[in-house]
Amino acid sequence: MSFAEQLIDWRRELHQHPELSLEEFETTRRVRQWLEAAGLRLLPYDLPTGVVAEVGAGEKIIALRADIDALPIAETSGVPFSSLNPGVMHACGHDVHTSVMLGAALLLKQNEQTLAGKVRILFQPAEENFGGAKRLIKAGALEGVSAIFGMHNEPGLAVGEFATRGGAFYANVDRFAIQVNGKGAHAARPHEGNDAILLASQLVNALQSVASRNVNTLDSVVLSVTRIAGGNTWNVLPENVELEGTLRTHKRAVRQQVKNRVNEIAAGLGQAFGAEIAVTWFDGPQALVNDEKWAAFARDVADWHGYRTHHADLHMGGEDFAVYLQHIPGAFVSIGSASQYGLHHPAFNPDEALLEGAARYFALLAEKALLQ
Ligand SMILES: [Zn+2]
Ligand SMILES: [Zn+2]
Repeated sequence: MSFAEQLIDWRRELHQHPELSLEEFETTRRVRQWLEAAGLRLLPYDLPTGVVAEVGAGEKIIALRADIDALPIAETSGVPFSSLNPGVMHACGHDVHTSVMLGAALLLKQNEQTLAGKVRILFQPAEENFGGAKRLIKAGALEGVSAIFGMHNEPGLAVGEFATRGGAFYANVDRFAIQVNGKGAHAARPHEGNDAILLASQLVNALQSVASRNVNTLDSVVLSVTRIAGGNTWNVLPENVELEGTLRTHKRAVRQQVKNRVNEIAAGLGQAFGAEIAVTWFDGPQALVNDEKWAAFARDVADWHGYRTHHADLHMGGEDFAVYLQHIPGAFVSIGSASQYGLHHPAFNPDEALLEGAARYFALLAEKALLQ
């Protein structure tokens, strides 16, 4: 079997057996087995799921990171190696990322004698629910590491294309829940109550003014109300309405500005209508901020490797890799996967032709980073 065939084989086996965040037991078993068979050293971390391998010797350590979890999505791609786990699918391509970093690990193992230090390869669980990076860091995976690199496949780029950027890249991801507490009444006698549905509607409209009228239009911000729930029937005005949604930003100051404005609008509308509106914020991962120097370095190596490189646009999604970059410098990059359907789509189908090139790129990147 050629190297490219091996990577496709691994990717397909992972794809057929996807597991949700923190349930990646079989995935972990497979990755461990493949790494051990290739002679890679596994670090003895106490992790229920996820694996960390190391290759080389010496003081300096460069880290590479893959994510291994899948999503609660029923696959409709129609590929012959579709998910055998009903309702679970590698719809974000973490099977691809895992296969790429396995390939990089193998290549680095072949060149072990020539490495100017150690390369630590992280296979992290729970990227989708943003908990895995913290677990690996707690286990010690960043100890002694001078820089870390990772990838996401990018369906909108062709195979052979590459993009990254210095500074902010992926977004701050925040979730909010709003509880509107009015006063219930007979639908025919609204004056005896305080209509929570009318108030919630005003609130949704008012929130739209934050992005369009409060934040500098040159800054990125998405404020979306994604769930609204209230009422049980047609002839009763409900007492309460619940709203939920998400805020995406890249700058810390903008994030705080929008949060403040949402809180003010909610409090003000509540006061005007004589009702109570409670806003609760759930902070997700912070923006992924690439180190300027390492992002430029990653792009230089990509040019040298033969990728067609681009300056990446800001990404409004979140990425757990951000947490590593809060501890040590490094860079996250996009590798073209040319899927007609996007990430998290049930028909997502990345082009496996990216695997070999990406594995060779990351092995090269780690080797060259050790020399910096
Ligand atoms: Zn995802
Ligand atoms: Zn992903």
